[in-house]
Amino acid sequence: MKLNENYSNLKESYLFSTIAKKVNEFSTANPDKKIIRLGIGDVTLPLCKAVVSAMKSAVDEMGVQSTFRGYGPEQGYDFLKNAIKNYYLEHNVELESDEIFISDGAKSDLGNILDLFDKDNTVLVPDPVYPVYVDTNVMAGRKIVYINANEENNFLPAPDKNIKADIIYICSPNNPTGAVYTKDGLKQWVDYAIQNNAVILFDAAYEAFITDNSLPHSIYEIEGAKNCAIEFCSFSKTAGFTGTRCGYTVVPHSLGKLNKMWLRRQTTKFNGVPYIVQRGAEAVFTPEGRKEIETNLNYYRENAKIIAATLDECGIKYFGGKYSPYIWLKCPDNMSSWDFFDYLLTNIQVVGTPGEGFGKNGEGFFRLTSFGSKENTIEAMRRIKTLICNG
Ligand SMILES: *Cc1c(COP(=O)(O)O)cnc(C)c1O
Repeated sequence: MKLNENYSNLKESYLFSTIAKKVNEFSTANPDKKIIRLGIGDVTLPLCKAVVSAMKSAVDEMGVQSTFRGYGPEQGYDFLKNAIKNYYLEHNVELESDEIFISDGAKSDLGNILDLFDKDNTVLVPDPVYPVYVDTNVMAGRKIVYINANEENNFLPAPDKNIKADIIYICSPNNPTGAVYTKDGLKQWVDYAIQNNAVILFDAAYEAFITDNSLPHSIYEIEGAKNCAIEFCSFSKTAGFTGTRCGYTVVPHSLGKLNKMWLRRQTTKFNGVPYIVQRGAEAVFTPEGRKEIETNLNYYRENAKIIAATLDECGIKYFGGKYSPYIWLKCPDNMSSWDFFDYLLTNIQVVGTPGEGFGKNGEGFFRLTSFGSKENTIEAMRRIKTLICNG
């Protein structure tokens, strides 16, 4: 047996383990100090009532002979695909049911989709980046090139004609920077992809945070995108499904063989998302579900506003926050990402994520999330104000 030696090319991810280690060391030495964590990329509000009630009914159905269900369709039940189809119609995107594939989340699909592409493709990822895009391609031994996302381009790089790439990753609203592409910005990428015979892998995990409908929720709002883009989305951040697990991927028929290949891949290697979970996801699209998840999203949006207002007051430059749960701030006094991390932890016990952990262009930046509680967010900002505005 021979190992996949590409795994030895993976960089050890020290980011979250280093954060945990530093926080643990501090709290052991200072047990009386209350630490506030605004570094987490996970939701904290519970599932909404409509989802819980739909899942409970589904559990009851599973316990009765006449409504029990075994294996479902690998690519998802029609009731959920139809709900998603109708949601896309609200953004004037028409999809067919068999272009939508239900899965246990966007992360798996983002990794698994690579089964459809030869090793001999060049991959383009923005820096800073969600590490999954990089690591899944390293595992396959693919060549990766980077495009700079930085202050000059507001963390929204435009395509560079001198870079040749076959597989392009775009995440908008972005993790970690919170930056959101306009329709014009995305159109440039769609045009570039078509010219280069490339495919765009579009990660829409945070689309629900967009409130300005002139901004695209889906890449298919852009003309031509169905000829070059696969879209990944998830109920994780939209409806608090990070532990419940449900997402979906759209592979348009106009991408040629890819739609049938993905169907074949999924029906061969995947046996579908639990019926109970799919009923829960369906409830997200009911009027009650929509209202309830909107209340939760507004709670996080309010936290983002509280953070943004404090940074404005302190004259700290930041990106994102308006249409995403991430606020990407520039460390004051040209501090490095890790120096700023230590500075906040030691002086005011506020924990965020050093931007450097997401790529070289993240150096000097710092990610705060709005996924904490309102009380903790207010208290963290009070401490930041005391330390930085008045300090
Ligand atoms: C959280 C997140 C996802 C969602 O992943 P799931 O597997 O659906 O929970 C996808 N992409 C990005 C960039 C994320 O931050």
